[in-house]
Amino acid sequence: MGGRIQEDLLCPIAAMDLRIRGLTRDYESDGKRIRALDHVDLNIDSNEIFTLLGPSGCGKTTLLRCIVGLETPDAGEIAIGDDIVFSSEKGINMPPEKRGLGMVFQTYAIWPHMNVFENVAYPLRARNTSRSDIQERVERALRFVQLEGFGNRPATRLSGGQQQRVALARALVAEPKVILFDEPLSNLDAKLREETRKQLHRFLTELKITAVYVTHDRVEALALSDRIAVMKQGRIVEVGDPKKIYFDTDDPFVADFIGRANLIPATVRHSSETHAIVDTAIGPIRARNSRRIPVGGKAMLCARPEFIRVDLSASDTRPNLFRGNVIHRIFVGEAYEAEIRIGETLLTTTIDPEVAIEAGDDITVVFDADHCFLIPSS
Ligand code: ATP
Repeated sequence: MGGRIQEDLLCPIAAMDLRIRGLTRDYESDGKRIRALDHVDLNIDSNEIFTLLGPSGCGKTTLLRCIVGLETPDAGEIAIGDDIVFSSEKGINMPPEKRGLGMVFQTYAIWPHMNVFENVAYPLRARNTSRSDIQERVERALRFVQLEGFGNRPATRLSGGQQQRVALARALVAEPKVILFDEPLSNLDAKLREETRKQLHRFLTELKITAVYVTHDRVEALALSDRIAVMKQGRIVEVGDPKKIYFDTDDPFVADFIGRANLIPATVRHSSETHAIVDTAIGPIRARNSRRIPVGGKAMLCARPEFIRVDLSASDTRPNLFRGNVIHRIFVGEAYEAEIRIGETLLTTTIDPEVAIEAGDDITVVFDADHCFLIPSS
């Protein structure tokens, strides 16, 4: 795959940006109104891999279906490039086939009675593309998704990961302005999911296409995205690049959803340019304070398990060092996950498997001041 550029692989795709304003969608269920989307505003740049991440029922799929045109919003506007494809105010609702979008679903949605070639050729045949053009473009798309030579294979005689690559080739062959993915890896087993995730990342980065990706899997979101929008109850809670979302979110819900997080109530005692010393139930802790919460301000200190480290030099008196007791630990391969108690506070840490600890042991842990951060609390 390496250094090949998009033009060698597929026709250049005119990636477009996507702008969503005030999108609202209500459903009725058992006589009750459910607000699936609540005034959603989003700008997705062209060539960006943009992920909608959130717990089950937060409205991700509804938003994707509204963009595609499979769902009609109650209010708001959606524009793709220069085209308004939906506007409640202007009375515009472009049908899905006119929106120029490609979609890859969770369930592959490939045709079982067709071979691989015919599956990929399907959108081109529907547009009466010439036979020689179809041949060339399907071959290029199959080469791109590394299924060269698979054209005659019955589509059902492929692994799940290969079927998903057929679905991707079929979406790409039509040269969509934006490609949308609805949890495309969730039917694959853990190992295949990891492999396919890497391939997908490579494909999308090389293609320079605008992609909107729906998932509730945080690792997938972190690994694939240029930016992530975290959703909760029909609203966008925060938008940012993966590192910002992981290391410097403004929101305790996001901190907890994107990775395991120890959230400790804190009050700022001293604040400098970048860091602060906060008072907590276990004692003073130094942490990053990029929000510049002032002295006396209330915060949540977010300490991810991997940044609370066991320190074997127990006599050390450095700041951020605490004595604790191991309550419980489990071996997860690359590390132990341990629950420790410091005073009345329970925290989760990850511990190197080489460190010999048992439940009941007293240990010393140190909080990494550069990776623990403060979230303002009201
Ligand atoms: P998941 O990750 O489980 O797919 P999601 O984030 O994609 O969830 P949506 O499927 O968009 O969430 O659903 C948002 C809300 O709207 C949920 O409360 C859901 O129950 C409700 N909902 C979705 N479709 C309908 C429908 N056709 N009729 C009634 N309620 C619906």
